[in-house]
Amino acid sequence: MTPGYELISKEEFKEIKTIFNKSKTLSRMGFKEKRKNIYKVEEFEKLFKKKFNSKYALAVTSGTAAIRVALSTLKLKKEDEVITQSFTFVATVEAIIESGAKPVCCEIDNTLNMDPKDLLKKINKNTKAVILVHMLGSPGYVNLIKKICKRKRIKLIEDTAWGCGGKFNGNYLGTLGEIGCFSFDFAKTITTGEGGMLLFKKKSDYLFAAAWHDHGHQNNKNFPRWEDTRDTSGFNYRMNEMQGAVGKAQLKKLQRLVKVQNINYNMIWKAVKNFKDIKLREIPKNSYISADALIFFMKNKNKALKLRHELLKEKISTKILPEAIKWHFAGEWEHIKFNGVRKNKFEKSRKILEKAVSIPILFNMKKNFPDKVKKAITKVLK
Ligand SMILES: *Cc1c(COP(=O)(O)O)cnc(C)c1O
Repeated sequence: MTPGYELISKEEFKEIKTIFNKSKTLSRMGFKEKRKNIYKVEEFEKLFKKKFNSKYALAVTSGTAAIRVALSTLKLKKEDEVITQSFTFVATVEAIIESGAKPVCCEIDNTLNMDPKDLLKKINKNTKAVILVHMLGSPGYVNLIKKICKRKRIKLIEDTAWGCGGKFNGNYLGTLGEIGCFSFDFAKTITTGEGGMLLFKKKSDYLFAAAWHDHGHQNNKNFPRWEDTRDTSGFNYRMNEMQGAVGKAQLKKLQRLVKVQNINYNMIWKAVKNFKDIKLREIPKNSYISADALIFFMKNKNKALKLRHELLKEKISTKILPEAIKWHFAGEWEHIKFNGVRKNKFEKSRKILEKAVSIPILFNMKKNFPDKVKKAITKVLK
């Protein structure tokens, strides 16, 4: 269970019912005479950009699609490079490969996000974009990374698949770079089953992406769709009306969700913070985390694995760390070429990740959950 799922209820169903009772239209495009002016995806986009104080929003079929569509605005060639971080879901790198560019991964630091020093080393004349990930709900050193990208004139894209509703310096994650990408898959803070969203600073980026995600359609009001104008080819990443309907209802729950996640996160940390052999993940000043997971470091890999074992005995599963790095750490991706190299080792990142333990945060957390975590840690440290 993940938080968005925990809250799926009659509000989502009510939104869906208006589609079946009134509009009887499942696609966001077309059927103007039939749909009785009901446009769920458009309404979801409008609410989303308002909530995030952003000018332009575009809904798509997944978070992976959102990153791919964001990269379409760069018109990448095969010698171009896009930099992201070694600790992320494999989707970030897959989207770069699909865009035709070469993926390059940076080491992470103790924030578990992009290490700005390594970013500086990896930028070269072929670097066209940086994709910053707010892994598991907390930002890294965004200010430093923003400065580097600005100075080097490189486009900054955010993978906000985690961190939806979190902030940095008072601004929402996903609105800090030029394009923000969100995921609403079944594991994320709010969910539409599958789905994604992009937020844009520039109108030109929005217009290009909106056309590209719809085969190049410019939705020119002077023509019927089958005679529509176009400047480029594209692909189909259109969100459908049922996803839009569920998204509208889920978005209304986001604020409460993130607030409760923070409360639960703090309750767990309060119960365990006095152990001197565990250390909280580094969180930059002025961050408001979305608290998707509570992550701390044990002394070494052995202790982290032992803690996972003890937690499982308490029927608590860890979230990605330390057990699931196969899908979330570039050092394990032997099936992907990085910058032309079959496998990079990312030793610095591995050392940080292998001693990290990630506790899932639920909306409906049981009262004794913090004590159970404490009990498991006590056993490992005794
Ligand atoms: C989930 C996730 C994605 C992809 O989102 P989907 O909606 O599942 O395609 C991308 N990046 C990160 C970091 C993710 O966790």
